[in-house]
Amino acid sequence: MKTALVTGSSRGIGRGIADLLRESGFSVVYSGTRPERPADLPEDCDYFPCDVSDAAQRRAVLRHVSDTRGRLDLLVNNAGVAPLERRDLLDMDEASFDRVIGINLKGTLFMCQAAARLMLDGLQAGLTDYHPRIVNIGSISAYTSSTSRGEYCISKAGVGMVTKLFADRLADAGIPVFEVRPGIIDTDMTRVVHEKYERLIAEGLLPIRRFGQPEDVARMVLACASGLLDYAAGQVLDADGGFALRRL
Ligand code: NDP
Repeated sequence: MKTALVTGSSRGIGRGIADLLRESGFSVVYSGTRPERPADLPEDCDYFPCDVSDAAQRRAVLRHVSDTRGRLDLLVNNAGVAPLERRDLLDMDEASFDRVIGINLKGTLFMCQAAARLMLDGLQAGLTDYHPRIVNIGSISAYTSSTSRGEYCISKAGVGMVTKLFADRLADAGIPVFEVRPGIIDTDMTRVVHEKYERLIAEGLLPIRRFGQPEDVARMVLACASGLLDYAAGQVLDADGGFALRRL
C-alpha cells in the first residue's frame, strides 16, 4: 500500500492533507509535536509524534514508517509555525529567529534529506509500483514582505530554495519534488489576524474573494501525488486564491 507521511498533521492544513490522502487510498502516518494522538483523530489512524526541528525525532518518525510500512511513497513537509509574537523587524529577537528557522526551514531541509535517502533505497531495492515524491508546503511569504514576522518570511523563502535543490538533485533518480504555496488559509495560525484578513479579502485583496480552507491546499497536494505532474522539477503550485496575480 502506498504510504504517506505528513508532518504537522495533528490539525490545520496538515490534517486536511492527511485526511484527503487517506480518503484517496494512502496509508497515512499523521504527526505533530503533541505526544498523544489528537482526540478527534479516528482510532484506526496511525499517529506518531515528531518535532521536525529535532534530529532524533526526525529519525524516529522515519524509522516508524520503515518498520511499519517498508516504504515511503510521499513525504509532505507541512509542519510550520509563525513567530510566537509578531514584532517589528527592528525588534526581532534571535530566539524567535532560531525557533522559526529551526522548524520551518531546518526541519523541512533535513526531512527532505532523510526521506530522499529512504526513497533512493526503495528504488534501488526495486519496490513494486514505487514512484516516490516529495511536497513541501511553502507560503506566499516566500516572496511577500511582512515586517512584523520577518523570520517567518525568511524561513519560507528558504523553503523555496530547499524545493529547488532537492528537485534538482533527485530529478535524475525519478523523484519529483513540488512546493504548494498557501495564501490565507483558515486555521489556528491565522486566527489572531482573522478579522484583519477578512476585511482585506472583502476589500478585494484576493481575486477569489474568500479565505482558503485546508482542503484547498490538500487538493493541490493530491494533484502532486497523483503522478500527473511528474514532468516537472521544483514546480510551485499557488494555493492562494489568486494572491500571486499582479493586477492593475
Ligand atoms: P497550524 O498552526 O494550524 O498547525 C500547525 C501544525 O504543525 C500542527 O499540526 C502542529 O502540531 C504542527 N507543528 C507545530 N510545530 C511543529 C514542530 N516543531 N514539528 C512538527 N510539527 C509541528 O498551522 P497551519 O495548518 O495553518 O500551517 C501549516 C503549514 O502551512 C505551515 O508550514 C504554514 O507555514 C503553512 N502556511 C499556512 C498558511 C495559513 O494561512 N494558515 C499560509 C501559508 C503557509 P501540534 O499541534 O501537535 O504541535
